[in-house]
Amino acid sequence: MVYFVGAGPGAADLITLRGKALLENADMIIYAGSLVNPELLSFAKPGCEVFDSARMTLDEVIEKMKIASALGKNTVRLHTGDPGLYGAIREQTDRLSALGVAYETCPGVSSFCAAAAALRAEYTLPGVTQTVIITRAAGRTAVPGRENIRSLAAHNATMVLFLSAGLLDEISQDLMEGGYSPETPAAIVYKASWPEEKIIRCTVAELCKRAEENGITKTALICVGGFLGDDYELSRLYSADFSTGYRKGITE
Ligand code: SAH
Repeated sequence: MVYFVGAGPGAADLITLRGKALLENADMIIYAGSLVNPELLSFAKPGCEVFDSARMTLDEVIEKMKIASALGKNTVRLHTGDPGLYGAIREQTDRLSALGVAYETCPGVSSFCAAAAALRAEYTLPGVTQTVIITRAAGRTAVPGRENIRSLAAHNATMVLFLSAGLLDEISQDLMEGGYSPETPAAIVYKASWPEEKIIRCTVAELCKRAEENGITKTALICVGGFLGDDYELSRLYSADFSTGYRKGITE
């Protein structure tokens, strides 16, 4: 069996209980060494084989999984954050399906959740926005043209950009030309939940300059939108005059 496990954003104790149990039971771990905290490998049992996928091709990863599975061994494929976001897992699971190798996925805490925590923020503020756009700038991996940052910016929703910290000059322009005012609050969250975590608060117009000043080119999320500002409305859910299935509202 192959388990695709979300390692969480960095801090080793942000893996799920299920993910930890799967690591403890694994005969082989293939981890994404560029981003997964190596501290998580200390959960491996003695004799567990460990490979860093940063040095492997897709074919090599699949070959290891195929052999382990044929021997009845458990493999954990450890991906950063949640495997379902920019995890490149589909190309692996399709190959495993074709080979008849069973697999399951264990979710993880995505870095965008850790970034909200680090910012002490709520992405979906009443009266501001109820939408989070998760996207990336086009880099070596293409992004379909209809999803260009300018058009997504028109919504003025919360936007979280993965894999884009090295492209901020263009991103900042696109965000402003697409609809965010230059003063819209923004933040660069570097290595959320790691000891070296850094939070840089700025405006959309200042993103590139602030990233350069702080030497940040990767392992960061760019968060944009009014959710980082001061104004919002109170929720209806906890309003005294609002009835829910659990609580009757006070009517004068
Ligand atoms: N599956 C992962 C994302 C993998 S793509 C997840 O759910 O988080 C890798 C990108 O994620 C990085 O380039 C960076 O933009 C972001 N990232 C991953 N871990 C991060 C962290 N701890 N802090 C900030 N950004 C992070």
